[in-house]
Amino acid sequence: MNRVRIFDYLQQYRKLSDEIDAAVRRVLRSGKLILGPEVRQFEEEFAQFLNGNGTCVGVNSGTDALVVALMALGIGAGDEVVTVANTAVPTVSAIRATGATPVFCDVDPRTCLMDLHELEQLITERTRAVLPVHLFGNVVDVPSIRDIIQRRDIRIVEDCAQAHGAKIGDRMAGTMGDIGTFSFYPTKNLGAYGDAGMCYTANPTLGEEMRRVRMYGFENGPRSVREGINSRLDELQAAILRVKLKRLSEYVAARRALAERYTQNLTTCVERVVAGDRVHHAYHLFVVKVPDRDRVRAELSSRGVDAAIHYPHPIHLMPAYRFLGYRQGSLPHTEALCESVLSLPLYPELPDEAVDRVCSELNDVLS
Ligand SMILES: *Cc1c(COP(=O)(O)O)cnc(C)c1O
Repeated sequence: MNRVRIFDYLQQYRKLSDEIDAAVRRVLRSGKLILGPEVRQFEEEFAQFLNGNGTCVGVNSGTDALVVALMALGIGAGDEVVTVANTAVPTVSAIRATGATPVFCDVDPRTCLMDLHELEQLITERTRAVLPVHLFGNVVDVPSIRDIIQRRDIRIVEDCAQAHGAKIGDRMAGTMGDIGTFSFYPTKNLGAYGDAGMCYTANPTLGEEMRRVRMYGFENGPRSVREGINSRLDELQAAILRVKLKRLSEYVAARRALAERYTQNLTTCVERVVAGDRVHHAYHLFVVKVPDRDRVRAELSSRGVDAAIHYPHPIHLMPAYRFLGYRQGSLPHTEALCESVLSLPLYPELPDEAVDRVCSELNDVLS
C-alpha cells in the first residue's frame, strides 16, 4: 500500500501542468523577470481575493513580508512586539531582523492561538505592535485585540502564512489589522514553486511605504528616501501563483471537507484543536493532541502514515532565543502543546480513502 504523505506538490502540478508551463514560458519570453506585469496583476488579484479594497505588495517570502511590514511601520531597536512562541521560527526571526524585541504571550490550549486574556498584561510603554499568528488556518480574534490596545499607538500585524482564505464572520484573515502578511512557501494553502510572500494593507500610505522598503527604500529611481532591503517577488513565481490563485477558494473548500472527514472518523478520545468563535477555518493543518505523541507518530509511520509536528520546540526555549530571558515554565500552555500536537496529512488532492486510512490507523494506535 502507498504511504500517506504529509505533502506532495506533484499531485497538484500534474493537474495544472499545461497552464503552469504556459505561464512560465510566457514570462521567460517576455523579457521581464523582476517587478513586471505578472507581479502587478497578482498583487491586484490577491487584493481582490482578500476583499477588494486594499493594496498588496509582493515580496520574497513570508518572513520578509513580516520584516517589510514592521520596517514600514517604523518598528526597530528598543521597540517591543507582542507575539506567541507557538509558531514557526520566522515569526520571531522577522521581529529580530528589525532589531525589535519579541514579547511572548501564552496561548489558549484549546485553539492554540494567542491568549487574549493575557495580552493586556504584556503591553508596556515600549509596545509598538501586536503580531497575532493565525496558526493552522484558525483565526485570532483581531477585533478583540483592537479593543484591548484601545487608543494606544500600537499596530496590529497579522501573520497569515497559514491562513489564506480563513475568515472570522465575513472578514478575511489579513484584513482586520493594519497589515496582513502571507507566505507562499510551497506547502502553504497557496504555494509557489519556490519562495514568495505578500503584504496586504487597507492604508495606501502604508502600502507605498512597503513598496519602498521592499526595494532599497527607492522612490522615483535609484535614490533611497528611507532604509530598505531587497525583497522582491519575481515574475516567474507571480505567474505561477496567478494560475493557482484562481483555484484557492476551491483548495480551501477541499481542505475543509477533508478536515470535516477527519473530525467525523476519529474516535472521540482523539482531542482536536478547536476553531475560534465564528471562525471559517482554512485548515492549513489538521492538528490533534495525543498522549505519548512521539510513540504514536512512530507507530503511524510504521503503518505507512506520515504525520508531522507543528511545533516540537517552543521558540522561547530554543538556544538562539535564550538571551530573551524566558525559561521552562514561562509559557506553560505553549510548552505543553509542543509535547502533544500531531499534524495529520492534509492537502487538497488527498483522497478521502487516505483520510479514512489515517483515521482507522490512529484510532487503532490509541485504542
Ligand atoms: C511559513 C511561515 C512563515 C514564513 O514564511 P516563509 O515564506 O517560509 O518565509 C511565517 N510564519 C508562519 C506562521 C509560517 O507558517
